[in-house]
Amino acid sequence: MAENQSNHVEMEKIVSLSRRRGFVFQSSEIYGPPGGCWDYGPLGVLLKNNVKQAWWQSMVQERDDVVGVDASILMNPKVWEASGHVTGFSDPMQDCMVCKMRWRPGDFEGTVCPACGGKLTEPRQFNLMFKTFMGPLEDTASVVYLRPETAQGIFTNFDNVLNTQRKKLPFGIGQIGKSFRNEITTGNFIFRSREFEQMELEYFVKPGTDEDWHAHWLKTRLEWYVSLGMKKEHLQMRDHCKEELAHYAKACADIQYLFPMGWSELEGIANRQDFDLKQHSKFSGKNLEYFDEETKERFTPYVIEPSAGVDRSVLAFMLDAYTEEPDKDEIRTVLKLHPRLAPYKAAILPLSKKEPLTTLAKEIYASLRKAWMVTYDEAQSIGRRYRRQDEIGTPYCITVDFDSLNDKMVTVRDRDTMTQDRIPIDEIKAYLFPRLKREGM
Ligand code: ATP
Repeated sequence: MAENQSNHVEMEKIVSLSRRRGFVFQSSEIYGPPGGCWDYGPLGVLLKNNVKQAWWQSMVQERDDVVGVDASILMNPKVWEASGHVTGFSDPMQDCMVCKMRWRPGDFEGTVCPACGGKLTEPRQFNLMFKTFMGPLEDTASVVYLRPETAQGIFTNFDNVLNTQRKKLPFGIGQIGKSFRNEITTGNFIFRSREFEQMELEYFVKPGTDEDWHAHWLKTRLEWYVSLGMKKEHLQMRDHCKEELAHYAKACADIQYLFPMGWSELEGIANRQDFDLKQHSKFSGKNLEYFDEETKERFTPYVIEPSAGVDRSVLAFMLDAYTEEPDKDEIRTVLKLHPRLAPYKAAILPLSKKEPLTTLAKEIYASLRKAWMVTYDEAQSIGRRYRRQDEIGTPYCITVDFDSLNDKMVTVRDRDTMTQDRIPIDEIKAYLFPRLKREGM
């Protein structure tokens, strides 16, 4: 581990690249950021959408046992009583009696305030849900919560999905969406924020088959990260011990990534048993059992939940892809993102700003952008433009030169190998298509 750790990229490099090239900005930066909130810029939104799209494709699109939903963030507050969040979703917190800063025990060393050295209060429980009011009255009857996980929007739709989609066990419901947690301490860039996105699957199974399905999802989810280029040696599985398990879970394992601050959770995969459906049955009065047509049994399904963070995945993919390579006397920074995740799939670069080169280059740009997110750049030397594209992870640069006007060919440069192929303009799409998908995807 020590060796891997030293191989790894410093967080500062990613923060700085993100800022410089428009991946991630601080929220409401011009006013002073509120802390724990981030905005994805023009490049970041593309990367993030590609991560979500890759998840959706593997978890919903390519499976006939999974369907999707997009539930609302605000729900009936009874949901959070049933789920245990109103009473149990809290972290211990200590207040500094001098500067009033709040700390989570375990996030700092020593017994005094890490900021000012002041005396700390005894730890007390702090509920992490954001509260607001629904409707015109600000009274206790109108309190609602911003959801702290997307999962409950799936459980409350269990019956709707079952009845409308005629699904048989085992089957799953997937969802991608925002979640909110009033984390006591945020940090490590987009790793822990107060507003973030989750990609969650609730996979309903017959009790007794749950352990096999848990093992299946652990393996499937780990493979997903690797299939998108994440290095195997930067990923590991960590089982929760009995004391750590959430009250509803029979077993839970985290997929951890070797972040700059050490191994940390990327995704949690829990066996939640029948806890949620039973609780919602009890609190809502609606029977959420499943009727098995073959065996004529009626029972509450167990559920396996792979729950991944979009932002943590984005961060891990960026860290994993970040490379600095010697190039002549300089350092070449390359974001070796899997082509499926790369914000731009190709950049179209006319060798010079002169006509009719730019017209031809723009024609190619217009034709390719119908198929993929591509970019066009005519400013500065070709070397600098290659560097700019390397840094944001564009897998292919297509250079249009003066010969292109006559031979109707362009030069395609590969980001990782820097090799160049001369190909006919009307074959660009056919050339890029298999390369952007990459084997096995
Ligand atoms: P942690 O222990 O790191 O706070 P958790 O165990 O509370 O995480 P879960 O409730 O299992 O997290 O949520 C599932 C996933 O949602 C996590 O694996 C993570 O990727 C993401 N996630 C949870 N909290 C945050 C947060 N504050 N900021 C960004 N992503 C988060």
